[in-house]
Amino acid sequence: MSDATVEFRVLVAMFEAMQRSKSSVEKRKKFRKFIDHCYHSREYFSAIRLILPSLDRERSSYGLKESVLAICLIDALVMSRESEDALRLINWRKGGAKTGANVGNFALVAAEVLQRRQGTASGGLKIKELNHILDRLASSENRGEKTSILSDLIKKTNAKEMKWILMIILKDLKLGVSEKTLFHEFHPDAEDLFNVTCDLKLVCEKLKDRTQRHKRQDIEVGKAVRPQLATRVSDAANAWKKLHGKQVVVECKFDGDRIQIHKNGTEIQFFSRNFINHPEYGPGLSNIIFQNILVDRCILDGEMLVWDASANRFSEFGSNQEIAKAAKEGLQTDRQLCYVAFDILYVGDTSVIHRTLKERHGLLRKIIKPCKGRLEILVPDGGLNTTCAVGEPCWSLIAHSVEDVEIFFKETIENRDEGVVLKDLDSKWEPGDRSGKWLKLKPDYMHASSDLDVLIIGGYFGSGRRGGEVAQFLVGLAERSAPNSYPKRFISFCRVGTGLSDDELDTLVFKLKPYFRKNENPKRAPIFYEVTYNSKERPDVWVDSPEKSVILSITSDIRTIKSTVFAAPYSLRFPRIDRVRYDKPWYECLDVQSFVDLVHSNNGN
Ligand code: ATP
Repeated sequence: MSDATVEFRVLVAMFEAMQRSKSSVEKRKKFRKFIDHCYHSREYFSAIRLILPSLDRERSSYGLKESVLAICLIDALVMSRESEDALRLINWRKGGAKTGANVGNFALVAAEVLQRRQGTASGGLKIKELNHILDRLASSENRGEKTSILSDLIKKTNAKEMKWILMIILKDLKLGVSEKTLFHEFHPDAEDLFNVTCDLKLVCEKLKDRTQRHKRQDIEVGKAVRPQLATRVSDAANAWKKLHGKQVVVECKFDGDRIQIHKNGTEIQFFSRNFINHPEYGPGLSNIIFQNILVDRCILDGEMLVWDASANRFSEFGSNQEIAKAAKEGLQTDRQLCYVAFDILYVGDTSVIHRTLKERHGLLRKIIKPCKGRLEILVPDGGLNTTCAVGEPCWSLIAHSVEDVEIFFKETIENRDEGVVLKDLDSKWEPGDRSGKWLKLKPDYMHASSDLDVLIIGGYFGSGRRGGEVAQFLVGLAERSAPNSYPKRFISFCRVGTGLSDDELDTLVFKLKPYFRKNENPKRAPIFYEVTYNSKERPDVWVDSPEKSVILSITSDIRTIKSTVFAAPYSLRFPRIDRVRYDKPWYECLDVQSFVDLVHSNNGN
C-alpha cells in the first residue's frame, strides 16, 4: 500500500461538483470518480468518514455547535468580538445589516468572513492529516484548545476548504444525496454491512473491492445494530388496512430513549438509536441485568425509561440522564431507571432477528425474569381485557379487529402514553428498516386536543431557506382580566413552528413584520408579556404590542408538560398550528386559568 496521498482539495472539488450537479446520477458519478481516485492509497475510511460524518463513531463529539464555533473562529482569526465580521458570525441565523445573503447557513456566513482573511491557494492539506487534526479537535477539552486547533487549520487551508471543514464539524454537508446512494455507489453491500455493525471503518476495510460481493453478515454482540423504525399512520383504520390479514400485536409506545442492551458475560453496553454507547446507564442497571437476564450473551431492543415507584408509573420524558447520574452517585430516590425490552435480537451465540416476532416474544419470556419498575418485558398475553391485572396498565395485546386497536389506543392516551406501535407477529426484525413494517399511531396525528387559541407574542428566525425570516412563534396565554375588560398581560406558553404551508407562513410573517421589534435586551420583555428570563426560549423578536398581534389556533398531543422553560405552568408537547385566526380579535386569547382547568380535567383531577 502506498503512502497517504489524497489531498483534501480533491475532496473539496468533489463536494463542490456534487453540490452543483442537479441529478442524482451526476452526483453519483462525481462520488465514484473520487472513490476511484482513492484507490491507490486505499484511504477509503479517511475519505468516507469526511463524507458521511454523522455516521462516524470513531471520533467522539466535537462539542461545537454553531454558537460556540462562532466564538472559537472569532478568536482563531484574532478578531474583535464587536467587529462587523464577528457579529456576522454570532448572528449567522438572524438577518439584518450585519449579515449577507448567506444568513441561516453558518458555513456560508463563515466562508464570507474567511474569504477576507485567507488566501485562495490550497494549503495542500491531506485528508489523513485533516483526520488527525479533527481527532485532536474532538478530544480537546476546552475552548482555548479548540480555538488553537482551528487556528492551525485556518493556516493550512483556504476559505473554500475551511467552509467544508466547518460543515464536516457540524455534520451536515447538504450534498443533496442520500446516505443510501453513497453507500450503494461505494459497494453494493455497504449499507447492509453498516446496518448490522454501525461501523464505518469496518465497512471501508471489508468492502475495498467493489467487484467482490460480501457474504451477508449477521449481527454480533458488542456491535450496535441500526434500529428498525416505525412509520406513521393517520388512524387505526388505516393501520389495520395496512396490516390486513396479519396477526397483529399492538404495543404501548413508550416515551423514553431507544436503547439496545448488549450483554456479553460481565460486559454490558447500552447503544442509543444513533449507535452511541451510553455507559452512564451501567451503575443504575447492570446489577439488575446480571440478576434477571438468564443467558450469558444477548442483545435486547427496547426503551429506557424512568419508573416513579411512589406514583407507580413511568415518569415524563426527559429524566433519564438525571436519574442515571443519581444512581451513579448512590442517591436514593423514588425514581429509578427501568428498561422495557420489546424485542430480542441475539441469544447465546445466535442471531434471532430472522425468527418471527412471536418466537422472539417467547425468547424474551424465557430469558428475562421481569423485575417490577426495573426490567420489564413487553409481550402480549392475550386479547383485549385478558392481559392486565386490575389496576395494572396494559402495555401490549393481540388485536383481533380494528376496534381492539381503537380501544387500546384510547386507553394508552388516557394513561398519558405517547401512542401505540402495531407489529406483525410473523415479521422478522430488520436492521435499519423504516419501510412500514412497524406502524406508529400517535394522538397528534389523530384527534388532537381541542384547539387552543393563543396569541403570538414573539418570533424566532429560521435557518437555511428561512434564514433571516421569522419561522417559528412564541405564543402566550392571556392573564385573566376583570369582567368586561381586555387582558393586559400575556404569559409565554410554548414555541410553535409547524402546521402552516409556506404561503400561509409568508402571509402571516408579512402581516406581523411591521410590529416585530428585535429582542435586543433579553432581560427586558415588553411590559405586556411575562416570560422566564432564565429561559433558553427567548424569541429573536417581540410583537411590540398585543393589539397588533394575531391569534393562532394550535393543537397538540393531548398531554401537556409541566413547564420550566415558559412562564405558564404547563406547556404543550408537539404543538402544531391548525389555523391562523385573522377573524378572531387578539383579546379573545385563551386565558391561563381556563387552560389549567382544561389540563386538570384531562388528567382527571
Ligand atoms: P417518535 O418521535 O415518534 O418517537 P422516532 O423518530 O423517534 O419517533 P420512530 O421510528 O418514529 O422513531 O418510532 C419508533 C420509536 O418509538 C423507537 O425508536 C422507540 O424509541 C420508540 N418506541 C416506544 N415504544 C416502542 C415499542 N413498543 N416498539 C417500538 N418502538 C417503540
